[in-house]
Amino acid sequence: MNKVVLMGAPGVGKGTQASQVAKYLDVNCMASGDLFRDHLSRETDLGLQAKSYMTVGELVPDEVTIGMVTQWLNKGEHSKGFVLDGFPRTIVQAKALDNVLNNGTGSLDRVIHIVAPISELITRLSGRYICTKCQKPYNLVSSPPLIENQCDECNAPIYQRDDDRSDAVKKRLEVYEEQTAPLVEYYVGSGLLTEVDGVGEIDEVRTTIQEVLE
Ligand code: AMP
Repeated sequence: MNKVVLMGAPGVGKGTQASQVAKYLDVNCMASGDLFRDHLSRETDLGLQAKSYMTVGELVPDEVTIGMVTQWLNKGEHSKGFVLDGFPRTIVQAKALDNVLNNGTGSLDRVIHIVAPISELITRLSGRYICTKCQKPYNLVSSPPLIENQCDECNAPIYQRDDDRSDAVKKRLEVYEEQTAPLVEYYVGSGLLTEVDGVGEIDEVRTTIQEVLE
């Protein structure tokens, strides 16, 4: 199992788990949100196109997102496997992913759907801060940095994403229900989906995911 998608609502812990799962499988991890934020910080055309959607918590249009992710997938180094975090988020994106893989490296091995109650997601997102340099995530309530406002790993300042503020959080959760939740049925239909409980210690969730992938 080395071509894996992690899906789940915003705040469920996909990002944290995705990088650990990628290490475990010894493959690269692609977080579409990180790719967009990278474009945004470099002020590329793609970043400027994505900005207005990201700030309010809406999805970037499919054609833009699919173009960016296809470019990443088609790099030779990813042919042995990958973990995708945050892509696909619509049925159109899922079908595009199937097409790219069927024309190249073969189909997905597994889709892990991480689930948690909505009240938990809102608490997590509103307390979430991220390192400006290494992107390590913190939660001011449950896992604050050792020194206030400073990353434990690289000492850089931590910040709150614009779209983790309350209006955008509400919008992102609505968008998830409307546009991404239908993917559950899509992947159940193809026999690829496994649901994993996202409530609990990070290590517990990671172990459960690793067991699924063994
Ligand atoms: P994330 O870091 O995964 O929460 O993504 C942050 C934002 O980037 C989302 O709210 C969207 O605006 C945009 N984004 C990330 N991945 C996708 C995707 N697969 N499709 C459309 N927009 C996306």
